[in-house]
Amino acid sequence: MVSPDRDFDFLESVSRPGLSIETWIPNVQERIDEEAAEMTRVRPNAGFNYDEYHTYDEINAWMDDFVSQNSKVTKIKVSKTYEGVTVYGLQFKKNFAAKKIAYIEGGIHAREWVSPATMMYMAKFFAEDYDTDSTVKSMLDNFVWIIVPVLNIDGYKYTQTDRMWRKNRHTVGTCKGVDLNRNFDHMWKKRNFCDDTYPGTEALSEPETSGVNDFLLPQKNNLVLFIDFHAYGQLWLHPWGHTGSVIWNPDRTEQRRVADITEAAINANGKPYDVGESGPDMYPASGASEDYGYGSLGVVYSYVVELRDTGRYGFLLPTSLINPTAEEIYAGMKALGTELVKKYA
Ligand SMILES: [Zn+2]
Repeated sequence: MVSPDRDFDFLESVSRPGLSIETWIPNVQERIDEEAAEMTRVRPNAGFNYDEYHTYDEINAWMDDFVSQNSKVTKIKVSKTYEGVTVYGLQFKKNFAAKKIAYIEGGIHAREWVSPATMMYMAKFFAEDYDTDSTVKSMLDNFVWIIVPVLNIDGYKYTQTDRMWRKNRHTVGTCKGVDLNRNFDHMWKKRNFCDDTYPGTEALSEPETSGVNDFLLPQKNNLVLFIDFHAYGQLWLHPWGHTGSVIWNPDRTEQRRVADITEAAINANGKPYDVGESGPDMYPASGASEDYGYGSLGVVYSYVVELRDTGRYGFLLPTSLINPTAEEIYAGMKALGTELVKKYA
């Protein structure tokens, strides 16, 4: 992304013989303005539209409606934000006797809007298909599912005025914001205040992440799944993430096997995703969620997922692609859920 006044210099500096340059988004601000107009336009009162991006207030109201319309689904407190907002998750407890927990979360990074949108779709699909789809029924009967649509609520709200914001809204030192996905307590590492990946003063310094830890740690022995959904890149990644080198872990083969099965289902129902080891195959990141899920909580099936796309629209994924993204991920989750049932039920 290049500002208009640097346009000429940029093109000159990247021009090489034999290299062709293609502009994907000619005016990023224009796209952001269009998206904002879509989001704030007064909507006809015809129920919740899953194929749009929503403000946090709308998402919160949707959760209330959702639990009132679906039996054995409750809204539970998972964490809180720096600005004091309660982070809720939807808990599906279809079978009263189910003890084991599958936890999935979206919206840890503010600008990755397709992540909360996909989480809401997932809840909708689960609720709609429970009675008719035997795979979904067995997933929901054997496990308690917790779906957190937006973890970084302060950041998500702020992206309505600053669309490319990533972190939470905590001012530390001279800069604003902590990258919550560098703030977990496995292999946490220091960085500069102003970095976009500033990890906080210490591991779990932020209410969002420490709240998640207070919520999950006491029930870690019941946890069978931990997934943190991001965008973009179309990646399904397993631990470790804190290093670029491949480090042996006893569950690596199994993590990869189930990721491959999941990806095959995604690919068959949509786009291909790359399966890999987070650090070596994407980039190293310390204090990140997938390492927390595996390293601190001991969940074998701990993944970080990068949803669509691969860069054509990036964070500004058009609303027309929310449904295809959610559909393919749902297919993947069913394949993964089948493996969880085989292993833990
Ligand atoms: Zn992210």
